[in-house]
Amino acid sequence: MNQTHNKPSLLSIAEAEELIRAQLKPVTGFAQLNLHAALGRVLAEDILSPVDVPNYANSAMDGYALNSNASALDSATKLQVIGTALAGHPYTGHVAAGQCVRIMTGAKLPDGADTVVMQEQTQREGEAIYLSGKLCQGEHVRHPGEDIRQGQTVLPQGRLLTPADLGLLASLGVAEVKVRRRLRVAFFSTGDELRSLGEPLEEGQIYDSNRYTLHGMLQRLGIEIIDMGVIQDRREDITKAFNQGAAMADVLITSGGVSVGDADYVKETLASLGQVNFWKIAMKPGKPLAFGQLGNTAFFGLPGNPVSSMATFYQLVQPALQIMQGQTVSPALRLQVPCTTALKKTPGRVDYQRGILEHGTDGQLSVRSTGPQGSHILSSMSLANCFIILPAASNNIEAGSIVEVQPFAGLI
Ligand code: AMP
Ligand code: MG
Repeated sequence: MNQTHNKPSLLSIAEAEELIRAQLKPVTGFAQLNLHAALGRVLAEDILSPVDVPNYANSAMDGYALNSNASALDSATKLQVIGTALAGHPYTGHVAAGQCVRIMTGAKLPDGADTVVMQEQTQREGEAIYLSGKLCQGEHVRHPGEDIRQGQTVLPQGRLLTPADLGLLASLGVAEVKVRRRLRVAFFSTGDELRSLGEPLEEGQIYDSNRYTLHGMLQRLGIEIIDMGVIQDRREDITKAFNQGAAMADVLITSGGVSVGDADYVKETLASLGQVNFWKIAMKPGKPLAFGQLGNTAFFGLPGNPVSSMATFYQLVQPALQIMQGQTVSPALRLQVPCTTALKKTPGRVDYQRGILEHGTDGQLSVRSTGPQGSHILSSMSLANCFIILPAASNNIEAGSIVEVQPFAGLI
């Protein structure tokens, strides 16, 4: 695999994904957390239901509970009302022939009863009711285990816990879950031109923006973040930072210095301290993306251009981190929609152009370009709510063509 970077041709995105999947494994290390602390964490065990849900037969309607074997269900039938069952206040007696119990939605079905007659299908006279309309044996009863059976897998391991999942677990009486430990990711920016916020800018200098986007994207994934700051373009400094990062973290991410410029030391440092699995892929923006290993630490070298670093992170690094978090990842949602603007494209690489997905005045979904698509134009990412994905072979796109989009919503 070390030879991959010598190939003249660019690696396809699918090949890059395959190499990443083959190389990375979920971290071991677990925590037992109560539900409040478990949101956004990855389940490390299958959760089997300890109970049937619902765990007792109960009424689906407000009405009267009766025994359909002991009493006829025709309209001539008169039944004595012997008590009331409310949600949380069961009727403790037995329902026999000629009897019924007033019952509310969610109340436990009393002993002896198997059917609930809707209030609307009865006529009340003092302490008795008359049935009316067409009635069926067993109707309006919620049966034990109808939603979830005891022993059934409710949530599989690998599941990223959502608010609905927490509610589901609570409904089963599950107070704690086993989750994987958080992933530790260290990152630094490279570049002599970069200054951190708060420092004055001199001629030829810019503020480091990648560390902020990266921090945000990592934060959204619930990762333990180690920000190592800006490292100057000096071989010794980069080497030192590589060693420090690898010693602290499960994953080291750098930005910049990964292309073929004179001061681009990232790839050669990775090759001398560890292993380069690939460093060039057929995507735009983002051709130079390094992936490798530094001992047990996975390494990603993002391109320096702000849009390239975000696009490569979302397409390849985020899924890789999710694998390492033990998360079961499903492919991001993609839609086919008309594009209302023309798009420039040269064949060769897959383009991830920035788009705005919106409803037109006719209510139909369509996408338009955010404007100039240079990989340094970070405002294009800020304006966008989706990637417009154009296949490698595609040429310029005319306005009105159908294109594939990937909404950012699915990217977290
Ligand atoms: P490089 O990949 O180091 O050759 O950088 C490519 C371009 O991205 C150059 O214009 C850099 O100034 C710019 N760049 C690199 N790192 C950052 C960063 N952390 N924040 C903003 N721009 C950057
Ligand atoms: Mg640089």
